[in-house]
Amino acid sequence: MMNLMIARAREREKGVFSPSMLSSCTRQAYFAVIGQEKRRAKSPRTNGYFLDGDFRHYKWQFALWKAHRAGLLILHGCEIRVFHPNGDFAGTIDAIVEIGGELYIVDFKGMNVRSFQEHEKWGTKIGYKVQIVGYAEIVNKACAFESFMGEVLGVEIRTCLLVGENKGGPSQSGSPLALHEDQLVVRQHRSKVKRRMHELRRHVTNEEIPAPDCTSTRTIQFQECPFAYFCRDEVAAAQKAREKATPERRVATPSRGGDRRVGPSALPGEKRKRG
Ligand code: SF4
Repeated sequence: MMNLMIARAREREKGVFSPSMLSSCTRQAYFAVIGQEKRRAKSPRTNGYFLDGDFRHYKWQFALWKAHRAGLLILHGCEIRVFHPNGDFAGTIDAIVEIGGELYIVDFKGMNVRSFQEHEKWGTKIGYKVQIVGYAEIVNKACAFESFMGEVLGVEIRTCLLVGENKGGPSQSGSPLALHEDQLVVRQHRSKVKRRMHELRRHVTNEEIPAPDCTSTRTIQFQECPFAYFCRDEVAAAQKAREKATPERRVATPSRGGDRRVGPSALPGEKRKRG
């Protein structure tokens, strides 16, 4: 557990992309890599979200260790730092396990109830697919990894596992542990990962700031982004222009005098009342 906590608290190297950036805003990834000043999120909600994520990971990584001790699988390590041979991508893998002679990257994600239901029904979202297969791409390029449990050479990862946990707890139809796992076949998603890596590298090489992903200052993505201070004016201006272009919607206003619905909110074919 102590090793896990130390590994999770470790400072990340500067100047490298991480697979989690493969699915995030391109501008955010660009700023992270060029070392743009970050403004730390101060809201209790954001910090509570990170804290919850840390302990959720410890819990399931510890469960993998227990499964390893019980002989159900071989745990090759948790919080494994991996580096692309090009030196511009690095990431930390939640765990790598071996089952029946096959190595799997395991990624844990806490999901809100709606995301979890979608994960159960439709499988992994494209953003997560690109991110998790991005780790496999790095390991396969390096052909090796090392963790506090030792070094493994001649590695090829063919499948990754995304284990989603429902933050709302078990659902009636789902797992009693509120877990659902999905298998991601690396060769099915590898081309998307490579395209995205290429796009990020191109922006850095050309020193070209990517367009903003945010379209509103009201979204969580914007409010929790450490670079929001840089994008604020641009995003706010685009938001204002969009809102101006959208015709104002007139809504029903119930009153004592009866139904005073006007304009688009009145039912089709219904005559408006006067007075
Ligand atoms: S504020 Fe939005 S557009 Fe700007 S870097 Fe952050 S996520 Fe990207």
